[in-house]
Amino acid sequence: MALIVQKYGGSSVADADSIKRVAKRIAEAKRAGDDVVVVVSAMGDTTDELIDLAQQITPLPPQREMDILLTAGERISMSLLAMAISSLGVEAQSFTGQQAGVITDSAHGKARIIDVTPSRIQQAVDSGAVAIVAGFQGVTQHTNDVTTLGRGGSDTTAVALAAALHADVCEIYTDVDGVFTADPRIVPSARKIDRITYDEMLEMAASGAKVLVLRCVEYARRYGVPVHVRSSFSTRTGTLVTDAPTEQGAPMEQPIIAGVAHDRSEAKITIVDVPDVPGKAARIFEVVAGAGVNLDMIVQNVSVASTGRTDISFTLPATDGAAATAALTEHQPDIGFTSLQYDDTIGKLSLIGAGMKSHPGVSARLFAALSDAGINIEMISTSEIRISVVTRADQLDDAVRAVHTAFDLDSADEQAVVYGGTGR
Ligand code: ADP
Ligand code: ASP
Ligand code: MG
Repeated sequence: MALIVQKYGGSSVADADSIKRVAKRIAEAKRAGDDVVVVVSAMGDTTDELIDLAQQITPLPPQREMDILLTAGERISMSLLAMAISSLGVEAQSFTGQQAGVITDSAHGKARIIDVTPSRIQQAVDSGAVAIVAGFQGVTQHTNDVTTLGRGGSDTTAVALAAALHADVCEIYTDVDGVFTADPRIVPSARKIDRITYDEMLEMAASGAKVLVLRCVEYARRYGVPVHVRSSFSTRTGTLVTDAPTEQGAPMEQPIIAGVAHDRSEAKITIVDVPDVPGKAARIFEVVAGAGVNLDMIVQNVSVASTGRTDISFTLPATDGAAATAALTEHQPDIGFTSLQYDDTIGKLSLIGAGMKSHPGVSARLFAALSDAGINIEMISTSEIRISVVTRADQLDDAVRAVHTAFDLDSADEQAVVYGGTGR
């Protein structure tokens, strides 16, 4: 008998019929003899709709109240799912993040899990029930304030619970058959990846492949939780995220390229005419960090000899654009730049693969593919196992398809299926 943590994303529980379908699947797993703990997301696009609703009330809602509002989404789905399972004759009980013992820091909207004490979940499981836990939410240690873990955070709840309960596997059920070599919504010829290492999955997630959220992969790697990403709409085996050797005992096969990820959520700030003297870059990024903004890529141009001034560009989450721009503008006199340009019509493409460490020519092939497709590269950054480029947003889809083809990732025989979801 195994203990399985199953997480169902919003598209898997979008309406009453979907909830009943998922309930059947959970009841089957339970009847097959396994202990089952379920983590559930809010129905469909509920979280986005709640955010829109708050925006209609005020453009800058207090973050504490935002978190209370958003956690309502998961409370609805968890209780409906528990009812659906009970009506199939299998005992089920739902729990909020707080009841499940998900303790976080107090960073509203992007709280980090600091401890999981799932004694109530363990009791429910020991009594023979299926425990349903609201994803994406926790509670602060000292003040009992309700927090959320950031968008897509139910994945993290699932892995954190799997680690705390010493589950055998964490199954992430979504609207595609696993992790593909590119987003199947953009590249229908993308191939399902059968096995992927934590490091490659981390880079994919960090680069925008939202099928798994970054923090969930970090957590899974730290605690060695095997994650099985699969569809709730089919019975196909999905993608196993693990560093463990294959069952045959052979080392994991490492293709040069794991996949192509894309990200439309970033913006670019260019600070024009910065005095090219020591300390200015430090000052700029202190100001940006002081506004609580995380940067991604940074480029400093060669300074113009006659003026001794240079331009510095960086990318950041577009949601942080207003905060970063306001902070920099406030400090314009002491930094001494001339002007600031904000551009949120950029896209980022990333090519990921552990094999690129030892294979020359990967960047040359990437740049050739983009140039053949007539796509201009605005910024470049690399890590050991990733190359990222910034393009115009409206060229991003074409760029992804061109690069996917150039690295022979297209599947010859099968089209990837997208079973549900709105892609929002
Ligand atoms: P859920 O609601 O189940 O959490 P998400 O929308 O967060 O689902 O994640 C699933 C989506 O991730 C897919 O529908 C797909 O469009 C997108 N996606 C992006 N990159 C990939 C990839 N490389 N492989 C699979 N899906 C991907
Ligand atoms: N409902 C939350 C969101 O839409 C959390 C999740 O689905 O993982 O971001
Ligand atoms: Mg998700």
